[in-house]
Amino acid sequence: MHILLTNDDGIYAPGLRALWQELRSLARVSVVAPATEQSAVGHSITLLTPLIVQPVFDPDGSHFGWAVEGKPADCVKLALVELLDQTPDLLVSGINAGSNVGINVLYSGTVAAAIEGAFFGITSIAVSLEYRDPVHLDFPEAARLARRLIIRLMEKYAGTGQLFNINIPSLDQGPPKGVRVVPQGTARYREQFERRTDPRGRVYFWTMPELVPIETTPDTDVTALAEGYITITPLHFNLTDYSRLQSLRLEITE
Ligand code: MN
Repeated sequence: MHILLTNDDGIYAPGLRALWQELRSLARVSVVAPATEQSAVGHSITLLTPLIVQPVFDPDGSHFGWAVEGKPADCVKLALVELLDQTPDLLVSGINAGSNVGINVLYSGTVAAAIEGAFFGITSIAVSLEYRDPVHLDFPEAARLARRLIIRLMEKYAGTGQLFNINIPSLDQGPPKGVRVVPQGTARYREQFERRTDPRGRVYFWTMPELVPIETTPDTDVTALAEGYITITPLHFNLTDYSRLQSLRLEITE
């Protein structure tokens, strides 16, 4: 078994390292990840600058992985087309610092890396850990929890090209209540910017991400995670709205 491990927080992120520790007992793990943090870059790719790739070594001299000066999707493409000597059986992206639920799934570089893997027909799993300020993110424990689910998904779905999004609740209030399979929420979050002025009098803004959506529909990844459950959502990347396809066809072609 061969796993490609990537993320959007960068190759030196503690979440990636914790997952690597857990996964290497299961499989051969190849790490190809961004050289620097790429959170919320979504599915962007690099066209206008070169993708510089550097090997990363551990203090004992062993090869840990490849750092790519690019986006998460670039990392997956490069790994599969150029860097790995064999096609992996599974791709895992994470563990991200912060949840990727609701519409945030669409901004996520962590999930985008998994989607890219699914483009290639590789079963791909995004893993994120909920962040509640000010809290210590327990990546080692989150990685142990993720490992159990990854084993189950790997046994059943390796080689099928399926896509999964896993979110682990903040572990500061005890272990998760359980695991729930839920759909992605679609509620909008309140948009907030902090307005500041620079020394030259120019106005600039900082995006202030909100952690709680404006309204919540019950039984989604957003609500189940907030209730303290690990969530798993099967995803696909075909955005077609099949329920409107036929009516639109009739309208346009009549
Ligand atoms: Mn991130």
